[in-house]
Amino acid sequence: MVRLLAVSKTWPADSVREAAAAGQHAFGENYVQEGVAKVDELAGLGLEWHFIGPLQSNKTRLVANRFSWVHSIDRLKIAERLSEQRDVHLPPLEVCIQVNVSGEASKSGVAPPDLPELARAVAVLPRLRLRGLMTIPEPTPDVALQRARFASLRAMRDELNAAGLALDTLSMGMSDDLEAAIAEGSTLVRVGTAIFGSRS
Ligand SMILES: *Cc1c(COP(=O)(O)O)cnc(C)c1O
Repeated sequence: MVRLLAVSKTWPADSVREAAAAGQHAFGENYVQEGVAKVDELAGLGLEWHFIGPLQSNKTRLVANRFSWVHSIDRLKIAERLSEQRDVHLPPLEVCIQVNVSGEASKSGVAPPDLPELARAVAVLPRLRLRGLMTIPEPTPDVALQRARFASLRAMRDELNAAGLALDTLSMGMSDDLEAAIAEGSTLVRVGTAIFGSRS
């Protein structure tokens, strides 16, 4: 089954309300301040909020306690802070490790050779539950290349599972490459533009 995460970054709370009224339950935000404002404003709707953007260590406390999921773990320090700061009365924070599958210097995400060590360290943090891997590959119209990047993330997930972790989530696929991601086993697509329209 593939879950749909509606990426509402840059869109006002009313856009989220509209999507929620149409039956959408899970929403993704990239920017801490903007995301937290929407989470608080829409608290009565019982929505599930996912943080999917780059996370700096001075912003982890807000994210740890307002969101149910974080997809963008790329170093241990951030994961440790989220675990320390997650309220004990809340269920564990569901997390994915972001992997840089295209190897560009500019993109965030852990380099594939460093993934196993980071995954083992995150998996034992008490207030987090490591659910899987996330990636944002470099944009390309080449569908075969899109598929190859997603296949490599799936292979990394399978290897970690073979090594004893129990990862059930592959957060991969956005508006322009979600078909390729689903073909390669995505369990959660993060879709903004195709739902809300182009961001200005
Ligand atoms: C913006 C964003 C998306 C959604 O991108 P679209 O191309 O608008 O579907 C998905 N994931 C992340 C991490 C994003 O920043």
